[in-house]
Amino acid sequence: MDNDTKLKITFCSGAGTVTGANFLIEGNGKKFLVDCGLIQGEKLADDINWEKFSYDASSIDILFITHGHIDHIGRIPKLIHEGFKGKIVSTIPTKEITEVMLADTAHLLSRDVDNNLAEIYTPENIKKALSLWETLEYGQKLNVDHGFQFSYKDAGHILGSGMLEIVYNHKKIVFTGDLGNSPSPLLRDTEAITDADYLFMESCYGDRNHEERDLRKKKLQEIINENYNRKGVLMIPTFSLERTQELLYEIDSLVENNLIPHMPIFLDSPLAIKLTAIYRKYEKYFNPTALKIINGGDDIFNFIGLKMTEETEESKAILSAPSPKIVMAGSGMSNGGRILHHEKNYLPSAINTLLLIGYQSVGTLGRSIESGVKKLHIMGEDVHVKAHIEIISGYSGHKDSDHLVEFVSDTAKTVKKVFLLMGEPKASMFLAQKLKDNLSVNAYVPVSGEQITLDC
Ligand SMILES: [Zn+2]
Repeated sequence: MDNDTKLKITFCSGAGTVTGANFLIEGNGKKFLVDCGLIQGEKLADDINWEKFSYDASSIDILFITHGHIDHIGRIPKLIHEGFKGKIVSTIPTKEITEVMLADTAHLLSRDVDNNLAEIYTPENIKKALSLWETLEYGQKLNVDHGFQFSYKDAGHILGSGMLEIVYNHKKIVFTGDLGNSPSPLLRDTEAITDADYLFMESCYGDRNHEERDLRKKKLQEIINENYNRKGVLMIPTFSLERTQELLYEIDSLVENNLIPHMPIFLDSPLAIKLTAIYRKYEKYFNPTALKIINGGDDIFNFIGLKMTEETEESKAILSAPSPKIVMAGSGMSNGGRILHHEKNYLPSAINTLLLIGYQSVGTLGRSIESGVKKLHIMGEDVHVKAHIEIISGYSGHKDSDHLVEFVSDTAKTVKKVFLLMGEPKASMFLAQKLKDNLSVNAYVPVSGEQITLDC
């Protein structure tokens, strides 16, 4: 076969690390990108995000987006800035989520006086990106000249998340994006891949399994009731996308089934409120159980006591609302956002509770709280922690190690090689060995910047 028809894949970033997904596919005179995500460290404006791309952005035909998390979309404005003029393709909800997420990131960056990103993260570049966008339904095929066909399958990770399937030269190549921790309360299960030749797969939890998910709702119920009996404030730092909507749905179910008493429950995050509206608009993508509840007349994101506080004044008024009460606010790791105000006010009292439901990165305030630090510095003030600290770890949005293996097993007969991406090297290596041992599948862990050629 002519060498020109082979496919070259470059792992520009997002290999050997969890964030910054950005993969280049070149072959037969065409160039495609899968995802264009921000590399997330302790500081949003890390210089590495703003170094020039290793490829000529103006030469890319299509950018495919797997889902709307910022580590998969966050450098789109930069791609535009560097001259990208191709098409951007995703599912319908992903486009709307991206619009909200990019605007939010632009807002965060504009507050940081130490960076000079003003000319990259502009409303114009975001608008331009959206004008280049085309959407696909799950399963809908997009034929591109030179023999390429693309489509999405449901990844079950967040609303709109899709695995990108590429058919080229009678071979099937799949980029999974992030893979959902199915069964999810709201979303449909990850669709099975049974006929892949090459699999480019996430491996975030390649070396770990999650806590039983059945226990988490029970634990949530207990924590809410204990806090109610103490007449305290229950603070829940939440991630705005997916985690918040899952939590609303679970609290809705607890309220509707009289498993917790009525009390004021605040969703104090403008970003989460906007994203919840998108979830509400696209209920048709939810799983059959959630749909049945919705079709039975229940508004799963609304219940007695819930108040969405979008405006700053409404947020400030939470302080004077009587306890017991629940406050959900961003950010999920307490490294910014409105949750800081509530933590400053309520952590010093032993009747209150702080509930952590997500991963807390090293260096964040959330990590200090999780580690049991009793004296914190929040917004310029010393804060002594006397509140109850609770942790529920069953809320991960990613497949764990055993379920990643199970996912690959569906296509173990056809797959020639699995490339493990979007994981720390330790997690990816562990999973590679496990795939070899359990399924006799050829698995490989590339490094960022590496280029490989597929035998197509
Ligand atoms: Zn994700």
